[in-house]
Amino acid sequence: KTGLLAYCRAGFEGECAQELSDHATRHAAYGFARTQPNSALVEFVLADSEQAAQLHASMHYSDLIFARQILLVLAHFPSLPIHDRIGALLPMLKSSDTRYCDAWIETPDTDAGKELSAFCRAFNAALIGVLKREKLIDRSSSKRLHVCFTRTDAAFLAESDIRYASSWPQGIPRLKFPREAPSRSTLKLDEAFQVLLSETERERLLRAGMSAVDLGAAPGGWTWQLVRRSIHVTAIDNGPMDQGLLDSGLLNHLREDGFRYQPKRPVDWLVCDMVEKPRRVAELIAQWLAAGWCRQAIFNLKLPMKQRYNEIQLCLALIRDHVATEGKSVELRAKQLYHDREEITVFAQIGGR
Ligand code: SAM
Repeated sequence: KTGLLAYCRAGFEGECAQELSDHATRHAAYGFARTQPNSALVEFVLADSEQAAQLHASMHYSDLIFARQILLVLAHFPSLPIHDRIGALLPMLKSSDTRYCDAWIETPDTDAGKELSAFCRAFNAALIGVLKREKLIDRSSSKRLHVCFTRTDAAFLAESDIRYASSWPQGIPRLKFPREAPSRSTLKLDEAFQVLLSETERERLLRAGMSAVDLGAAPGGWTWQLVRRSIHVTAIDNGPMDQGLLDSGLLNHLREDGFRYQPKRPVDWLVCDMVEKPRRVAELIAQWLAAGWCRQAIFNLKLPMKQRYNEIQLCLALIRDHVATEGKSVELRAKQLYHDREEITVFAQIGGR
């Protein structure tokens, strides 16, 4: 058995499976997705390991919306001997020429998975020791080993290419909630900047003195992320904004309707966290980008109960088409972030690829 393994938010296995199947079809790779409800894992099974490796090479984590990580499965061990798990995994690793820069021991992001975390830490230390002794670790390698335990006696042995994989264990960025921030949703925009932008883009696109509009801004968690970077923010919301932000001298709060507000002059950034139907938000963002009112945007699309995957595809196509009518192009990067529940976050950039 061979294939790919994706991590996702529990409850979104269906969307993740649909996305992997779509991607495989576009790459003429034929296989099927296999998953269990609320397992936070999706396997994509293929006929042979060559096809699996090819498909994995074409699937960059950043191109996938619902997958937090995408791995190439080397083997599945449904009943590991609990007194010598490493002994059972090792022959497979020694039989190939691959050296790994690191080994991560992971679990699915579920309650059952969390109970395995102490076990995983201990196992990690033991495995790294053995891998070093067997000369299977080479820090210059682009391959990373992943062992994903679903029980203490069941695991997937898998690998990633660190150039195209998420750089956080379990695909979950560990972000600290800043004490001074007015709401927990500040972590969403922080994560969006970390996950949807590269380091050089963060430096280039988030500079002091830039301007932003925040639609649906109260109490100001997202605004806080911008003000923290010395970006001037116009916050649109009927609700009250945090006093600390108002005192920063970088904030202009307008009690207006976010769907009607138009900026007097173009801004660098539009961010939008209004709770509304995704199609309506997509139309609004498309209008801003097409009119040239902003160069970049980060926004949420709340997911409907049904047809969540298709609705997202429709929303993204709507933005591309609308922007194209003005003779412009837009690059869209979408992800269900760790801090996103029934929603996804999208980065849009005018003039992108
Ligand atoms: N991003 C904010 C933060 O980090 O603190 C939280 C935003 S909260 C999820 C959604 C906000 O959108 C609410 O404060 C609500 O008042 C605002 N909102 C909803 N519809 C709006 C509209 N049509 N115009 C302006 N604001 C709106």
